[in-house]
Amino acid sequence: MRTAVVVGAGIGGLAVAGALARSGWQVTVLERDDRVRAERTALILWPNAVRALDALGLAAGLDAIATPLPESGIRRPDGQWLVQPRGASGRGPVIVHREDLHDALVAGLGDQVEIRTGVAVRTARADERERPAVGDGRTTYEGDIVVAADGIDSAVRQRLAPESTVVSSGCAAWRAVIPWYRVPPLNEGRPVVGETLGAGYRFVAAQLGQRGSSGASTRGGIYWVATAAGAPRPEPPATQLALLRRWFAEWHPPIGDLLAATEPDELVQHEVRELRPLPREYGFPAGPGGFALLGDAAHAMPHHLGQGACLALEDAATLRSVLRDAVPGRQTQEAIAEYSRIRRPRAATVVRQTRRMSAVLQARGRLALRARDAALGTISPRLMGSAATAAAAWKPPA
Ligand SMILES: Cc1cc2nc3c(=O)[nH]c(=O)nc-3n(C[C@H](O)[C@H](O)[C@H](O)COP(=O)(O)OP(=O)(O)OC[C@H]3O[C@@H](n4cnc5c(N)ncnc54)[C@H](O)[C@@H]3O)c2cc1C
Repeated sequence: MRTAVVVGAGIGGLAVAGALARSGWQVTVLERDDRVRAERTALILWPNAVRALDALGLAAGLDAIATPLPESGIRRPDGQWLVQPRGASGRGPVIVHREDLHDALVAGLGDQVEIRTGVAVRTARADERERPAVGDGRTTYEGDIVVAADGIDSAVRQRLAPESTVVSSGCAAWRAVIPWYRVPPLNEGRPVVGETLGAGYRFVAAQLGQRGSSGASTRGGIYWVATAAGAPRPEPPATQLALLRRWFAEWHPPIGDLLAATEPDELVQHEVRELRPLPREYGFPAGPGGFALLGDAAHAMPHHLGQGACLALEDAATLRSVLRDAVPGRQTQEAIAEYSRIRRPRAATVVRQTRRMSAVLQARGRLALRARDAALGTISPRLMGSAATAAAAWKPPA
């Protein structure tokens, strides 16, 4: 039987592990943490991710956990429109609770997948004559292929693509889901959704469904993400929350109400980081197959376009497609080279779009802000349109 080792049980690792198992691979997943779990936050999934989930055979489960996001436009902190909603029709993004998505991916693993937790991979063996392998200093795990889905600090990538380093994107982000039973009465009954941009600050809110209602997350409520230029805060969560309430105090409703309704233990802080430059390759031949980089291990980027997890799902669908009928040996090596040929330019395009958005979104200073506001009024439909098109245009390989 064809064998695969997947390093990391995040969204990318779980998606590819289940997909390979369903194509007849015997898969071992190695996870550093003591259990497989998701953050208590949410994710926006663009149409490309929905198509990837479809190609992975997981679209039916998505309908039960996803809430469609209405188009919301962009506002200034005083509530004035920078970009009005255009009333676009067609399938837009959806929002899911991460725990719901994780559960769906775990349910898709089946019984061909062995999960080993508490294994922190530190070494990688990429040798022409031997099967690709990784190890944690005690045990070596080898397969016909190894998929590195171990996130931005990937130990496997550091060994295979040392040219790519992790750098700060110059901002920090906070996220929370206010559970449905504590959501305060807001917005005169209309859905809470939208993006607001200030000088070096950004706030995005979106409504997950309500528990039990049809077509909505079983972990409903309101999800918000706040981004601020600068480093993450070392203080405890209660102090961080107090700071966020101060920074966003003058912003239009319901931002203050959302921050007031959030509990410190719901707050998840991130230093926003990215890979610079991207690895030159996403596939590395070894023995009868080789290594593939996937998800944040391959192309971590700032969250401004909400595409990181979407690309991880695209990677998983692509890897499954190129490997479907490949037997260990030349076919599998070629499949891994093909994966790199397909995925590297795609990731580079989305990363380029994200960096352009970062520059616009993080503008500070009066002149830069005026230019930003003008740009948002004029270029932004084009900029955002092209970013959305790049995202929506992706189709899984046949
Ligand atoms: C504020 C914010 C908002 C975001 N919003 C969105 C959004 O709306 N939409 C979207 O598509 N993306 C979004 N993203 C990006 C998204 O979260 C990531 O791109 C995605 O989670 C990457 O998934 P992954 O599986 O590649 O990596 P990860 O989720 O990082 O998973 C890696 C896994 O590998 C494990 N691991 C790490 N090192 C080792 C090791 N040495 N050995 C064994 N296991 C290891 C980790 O424990 C983890 O389980 C956002 C990111 C941020 C910071």
